[in-house]
Amino acid sequence: MTIRVLPPEVASQIAAGEVVERPASVVKELLENALDAGAKSVTVTIAAAGRTLIQVADDGVGIPADELTLAVERHATSKLVSADDLFRIATLGFRGEALAAIGSVSRLTITSRTADAPAGRRLRVEGGIIGRLEKVGAPVGTVVSAEELFYNVPARLKFLKKDVTERRAIDTLLTRYALAYPQVRFKLSEGNSPSLQTAGDGDRRAILAALYGVDVARQMLDVLSEEDGLKLTGFISPIALTRSNRKEITFFINGRWVQDTPLTTALLQAYHTLLMVGRYPLAAVFVEIPPEEVDVNVHPAKAEVRFRNPDKVFSFVLRSARRAILAFTPVPQMAPQNLWGSVPTQPRTIDPIWSLAHDELGVEGQKSGVENSGTVSPSPTADDQQLASPNITVPLLRLIGQIGSTYLVAEGPDGLYLIDQHAAHERVLFEKLMAQHEKKAIPSQVLLTPLVVHLPPASAKLLEDQLPVLQHFGFHVDLFGQNSYQVRAVPSLFANSDPEAALRALVEDFEEDEAPLQNELEAKIAGRVCKRLAIKAGQVLSPDEQRALLNDLETCASPRTCPHGRPTMIHLSVDTLERQFGRKGAR
Ligand code: ADP
Ligand code: MG
Repeated sequence: MTIRVLPPEVASQIAAGEVVERPASVVKELLENALDAGAKSVTVTIAAAGRTLIQVADDGVGIPADELTLAVERHATSKLVSADDLFRIATLGFRGEALAAIGSVSRLTITSRTADAPAGRRLRVEGGIIGRLEKVGAPVGTVVSAEELFYNVPARLKFLKKDVTERRAIDTLLTRYALAYPQVRFKLSEGNSPSLQTAGDGDRRAILAALYGVDVARQMLDVLSEEDGLKLTGFISPIALTRSNRKEITFFINGRWVQDTPLTTALLQAYHTLLMVGRYPLAAVFVEIPPEEVDVNVHPAKAEVRFRNPDKVFSFVLRSARRAILAFTPVPQMAPQNLWGSVPTQPRTIDPIWSLAHDELGVEGQKSGVENSGTVSPSPTADDQQLASPNITVPLLRLIGQIGSTYLVAEGPDGLYLIDQHAAHERVLFEKLMAQHEKKAIPSQVLLTPLVVHLPPASAKLLEDQLPVLQHFGFHVDLFGQNSYQVRAVPSLFANSDPEAALRALVEDFEEDEAPLQNELEAKIAGRVCKRLAIKAGQVLSPDEQRALLNDLETCASPRTCPHGRPTMIHLSVDTLERQFGRKGAR
């Protein structure tokens, strides 16, 4: 075939493909235009999940009559004058492509009026063909309707998902924007009753409830942090509230929903060792950063950004989130139904009075359900968070003793604490090791007699790859003939444990692991070493050892979970005790 210039309709449809992929992308562009126009109220109406109609009405500044025709041309924008402006963009739009793109793949109607114009104007665009301007009566603001999306691009139509899916995408989009712009009134409806309606009174937590439900919204932690020109606000979940995927993590950067950002990793790192493997937090985080420090011109649908100084933003997000999490990490309460955990499995042996009481308590316990292993905690205000410094996240405890060679029993200001000695020791070792690691000074202790360990070839290779990391952690290990290693020194922290067992255990763990992220590798290795070398369940501890463990735990920054996210302690409150013993009413 010979080279030819594409006819304009074909070229414009190809370009539109980048911007308009599905109904939700039309809604996004129109929504952004309304927000850029300073709207205080935005009403979105859809029909057939956006296939037959998407209409966005706003009360923004409107489009002047003599600019309306230009607005639907490609590369026509009021938001950008020169290329330099690209590096200080303060609006959501800047490409001048959205209206043109939507006009080339739907039947588009724009009705608009500015405050100083006596009447409005209406313009239609069908499949890229621009019609004539008409004079119409209209309120100040703009109404854009896109009807029969992709009527002229059947191939695109085939790629649309089921109505529920397309509708959900629109819903998600609107709720997230509503959360990002709490001062703007949003309404979304399909048919008669609105599926979303916000007050525009600036109350983000109310909108959060629309997004996640009341229970979850109530538990989310406030984050607020500002430093060096960066600002972060929003909500993140406490460690007891998680999901099995990252879908509930939303980042807005300068008012723009950014879907693929390294900041998600920063947030996940803030939860590192606090959540179980495979669990993810929920978050709606709003980052503000001087416009000249972000490049927004990197993605056709503007869904990604690039930072001039990515490390600075990354660590800012990590620190802000970490602070909020640590300041508010509740000790799991020993819920009554857990306390009598074995009861329901042996109903016949139970006195009817007990089973009755148990049922009642069970119902009460369920109120704190919703994927939540901890207590329902009141949403902390910013003040609360300042008061609860990370250093006092465990109350002072009075040791009572050890039970089952596995748990320590202690008394705190508000009742009884049961501490899992293995999990607690793991946490203590982990924090000590990581503190030394951060100071780049992990002391090692030389073994009196070096130890030789033989490994199968595959394992030997794995170990060889990790030698520098091990060395850094205070293990001095050298190759000693084929598939053999000599251990000359171990971290002083572990001087009293069995070095061969530790090394073999580490190698086993390397084998299980597919591809750890480099930046998580060190913490992972530290976590593994600590797990292997921590006091085991079933190990009898002297009263001095018990006390030392408790004291060490009290000084930890995150004393309430082991590095793998399991709780180190459970709490039986005075209140629960009193209820259980009938000293206080059942409710
Ligand atoms: P961009 O938003 O990138 O500038 P668009 O194609 O989305 O490009 O819009 C083109 C222009 O039309 C905008 O720059 C703006 O001047 C005008 N415009 C579009 N929608 C609205 C609206 N809802 N209110 C006021 N002006 C609008
Ligand atoms: Mg736009």
